[in-house]
Amino acid sequence: MSLSHVQRGSRPHVVVVGGGFGGLAAVRTLRKADVDVTLIDRHTYNTFQPLLYQVATASLNPGDITWFLRAVRSDQDNVRYLKGTVLSMDHDARTLRLDGGQQVSYDYLVIAAGVTTNYFGVKGAEEYSMPLYKRSQALAVRDRFFANLEDAAVNGQDRDLRIVVVGGGATGVETAGAFAELRNKDMATTYPELDRKRTHITLVEQAPFVLAPFAPKLRDYAKKSLEKRDVDLRLNTGVKEVRDDGVVVGDDEFLPAGIVIWATGVTAHPVVKDWGVPQGRGGRIMIDDHLRVQGLSRVFAVGDIGVEDGDRALPQLAQPALQGGKYVAKVIRADLKGQEHKPFKYGDKGTMATIGRSSAVADIAHGPRLTGFLAWVIWIAIHILTLLGNRNRLNTLINLTVKYLTKSTNAIVGETPPVALRRREPGPAITGGEAGELDEPARERDGGEGGPAAADDLHPDHEGERISEGGEGDADVRVPDPQLDLGADAEGSRTGASTGHS
Ligand SMILES: Cc1cc2nc3c(=O)[nH]c(=O)nc-3n(C[C@H](O)[C@H](O)[C@H](O)COP(=O)(O)OP(=O)(O)OC[C@H]3O[C@@H](n4cnc5c(N)ncnc54)[C@H](O)[C@@H]3O)c2cc1C
Repeated sequence: MSLSHVQRGSRPHVVVVGGGFGGLAAVRTLRKADVDVTLIDRHTYNTFQPLLYQVATASLNPGDITWFLRAVRSDQDNVRYLKGTVLSMDHDARTLRLDGGQQVSYDYLVIAAGVTTNYFGVKGAEEYSMPLYKRSQALAVRDRFFANLEDAAVNGQDRDLRIVVVGGGATGVETAGAFAELRNKDMATTYPELDRKRTHITLVEQAPFVLAPFAPKLRDYAKKSLEKRDVDLRLNTGVKEVRDDGVVVGDDEFLPAGIVIWATGVTAHPVVKDWGVPQGRGGRIMIDDHLRVQGLSRVFAVGDIGVEDGDRALPQLAQPALQGGKYVAKVIRADLKGQEHKPFKYGDKGTMATIGRSSAVADIAHGPRLTGFLAWVIWIAIHILTLLGNRNRLNTLINLTVKYLTKSTNAIVGETPPVALRRREPGPAITGGEAGELDEPARERDGGEGGPAAADDLHPDHEGERISEGGEGDADVRVPDPQLDLGADAEGSRTGASTGHS
């Protein structure tokens, strides 16, 4: 295989872009087909997105939910993996161009590149909020949460710690619920220095309910379950702006926050506009009832990225992607034999979401609507079974069992930045030599000055320095902002905004 031009042997060459649910399903269904398959992905691993929030909330290791894409060759020798990001496509020449400069020729192309975070043009959202779409982003959320806690533990909790989750869909509900449980169950043991009542989890949602795609009964259950966990629910509330110290909602009300998690929705990757394909709602690629890209007989789009005309938009969930991937592989096999294949028919199995321990909702297609413990057990079983690889299934089973069935407070933590002492007067209640050691970074930053520098510490210009995470790609971890909420509590103006609904 040439490094600059990938054109496999004499057999038809099927190129699959994206090793997610849809792409891998297509690859595997071609296992016994008389074709050469090339699987292209920008990552060397598949990410099981439904459990990303468990990584972000310190309950699972990132490796528990990722799977080495080259391992697909263990039981399939007609496939090769190629790392790269697809930048452009030429459908007349039947070629793709990757970021490394490689050109790949195809006979059939399956586009299964998924989608990405949609900020809906909200000012500051992309700059200051933290999305939850990739492994590196989940790790960044986790590390920032613990950075905030470590900072408060050293400097004293002279201000409230706040997480604002924007978006009341399944991702937002699951993330807010998990952070609330971490606070409610673990922090008294692991952070005795902190008053858990001064750590707030706020969920902001534009609609009057959470979990919009679910039946009203299940939405109500989820709402009550979040309230039971002391999540501050702000329904009927749109976010107008995200700043580095909080969000502006509704009628210019300011909700202070140390962490803003963005979980509002998805859109196509911007690069799709260079792929020579028709785009429809949300930038998704327009397909026909055989999941063929409209106007291109040998190109298919499956999963989150594909959309049919009119009302036939499938939900952007794992099942449509899995079923679509398998289906297009069968269409390709039939096409090679000169046969027709019947149109794609989605088999809806229902949807589920969890709020926390023993709490979930399940809307099972043609079955009952479940809430509570039973729904939760089904949710866990389905997620573990759907994971790729026995090691991931076993690790996840062990980690979730330890989390939910024992009283373990052993969070899975990562790197956090050094904690700088913010104020000299009054000093924190740390005895022995520790206070002096902790004082050092502050002294360095302040150029060794004494008391006056402490006042400077409260100025926003001196805060919130960014630290590149290193080793985790695009993750970005910020030192907690010491200014956060301090003035607000003193003035009694801004904190009322976010606690008003608690
Ligand atoms: C936080 C979160 C929680 C979710 N929870 C659930 C849930 O509980 N249940 C459920 O059913 N669904 C859930 N979903 C949705 C589900 O994960 C998606 O619907 C599903 O992953 C779509 O599969 P896909 O194959 O279309 O895309 P993906 O699984 O997203 O895979 C796309 C692949 O394409 C690769 N790629 C992207 N662009 C390029 C490029 N230019 N070049 C090369 N490779 C590229 C990516 O690296 C990725 O591996 C969740 C999603 C998120 C983000």
